[in-house]
Amino acid sequence: MTAYLIKGASILGGDPADLLLSGGVIAAVGVGLTAPAGAETVDAEGLVALPGLVDLHTHLREPGREDAETVETGTRAAALGGFTAVHAMANTSPVADTAGVVEQVWRLGQEAGHCDVRPVGAVTVGLAGERLAELGAMADSAARVRVFSDDGKCVSDAVLMRRALEYVKAFDGVIAQHAQEPRLTEDAQMNEGAVSGRLGLTGWPAVAEEAIIARDCLLAAHVGSRLHVCHVSTAGSVEIIRWAKSKGWNVTAEVTPHHLLLTDDLVEASSLGAYNPIFKVNPPLRTREDVEALRAALADGTIDVVATDHAPHPVEDKETEWGAAAMGMIGLETALPVVQLAMIETGLLDWAGVAERMSATPARIGRLSGHGAPLQSGSAANLTLVDPAARTVVDPRASASKSRNTPYEGLTLPGKVVATFLRGRPTVLEGKLA
Ligand SMILES: [Zn+2]
Repeated sequence: MTAYLIKGASILGGDPADLLLSGGVIAAVGVGLTAPAGAETVDAEGLVALPGLVDLHTHLREPGREDAETVETGTRAAALGGFTAVHAMANTSPVADTAGVVEQVWRLGQEAGHCDVRPVGAVTVGLAGERLAELGAMADSAARVRVFSDDGKCVSDAVLMRRALEYVKAFDGVIAQHAQEPRLTEDAQMNEGAVSGRLGLTGWPAVAEEAIIARDCLLAAHVGSRLHVCHVSTAGSVEIIRWAKSKGWNVTAEVTPHHLLLTDDLVEASSLGAYNPIFKVNPPLRTREDVEALRAALADGTIDVVATDHAPHPVEDKETEWGAAAMGMIGLETALPVVQLAMIETGLLDWAGVAERMSATPARIGRLSGHGAPLQSGSAANLTLVDPAARTVVDPRASASKSRNTPYEGLTLPGKVVATFLRGRPTVLEGKLA
């Protein structure tokens, strides 16, 4: 395997140094390293080196909706976004609720080879919310599942949620909850507030998210288990999680890039037109005050990680009237640029803080070894090189994803992934798939 000498990269935004990647690991870090015979040299002057990003929340759609995305296309987008590992959500068809399906997804990821694919197992059979899936068998399978979620649906039954939290303790698993009280969100179309009132769309109240998060924090504390809260979207949810953490409870949370940037008034007026379903997403875009609270919570650690909730949909499911359109946005390739815009360029986080929240902590929550390690000698050579000075106008047609449903079309975003390495092998070089 070819060795790579990365010259003059700013590690986590610090002083420039060289990194020698050899044998799948970072063999040396230092100033003025010389390339061994046969090594390729990568000029990284002006580039920031980060540990390879880890996504806790990706929809790869395979098996079942290969018209929207496949493991192959989704992981290409992931590598181009700087990711070396993604957790693939279970709401496929068939649902990833057995050892057989999670092993299938895991193998497809290995065959594609663009990044590691760690399947998420369903909590309940068929995501039906009626009985627990084979959590232990999925944990023991070759896919070694540690994150379980009915994402897309909420485990709303308190008894089932309690049992799931108890069950996963045996193998140090975590339940990742999509917090959406179903009765409070029947036919909900967008955030409940002034804009939904003006537009006459059924509102999606913040309390529908907050009530489930509060209940689940209490349940997790009661049984002494780990809870992870998916895509936190309201200021009230932040307050509840802050309270749960102050108690010392084992609760972690994620926020998506789009909830750090976009607001519900885009549904009423944007350069892409009113009622544009490109802004229809679950949980919905909220208010400016919510965005400010989410940014502050990510900065102070109340929210632990950024997760993309990359949710590809084919054109016919998205470019239709608002009420009929599917919910979700793609986001693997734009995640880091949006975080740079919302968190770095506002002074809320530095690159070390981004590395913590997009690599080290998600790897730890997912109990994913070999990822999120510090960029030092002996670590697995999973890393990405970013040009923070680059500016790119988002073009949906340029995405490696099979789908085109990005809400950032035409927007100029900062930062570009120049290279990504998976165990020392380039998956992306010069901004293109290697
Ligand atoms: Zn969800």
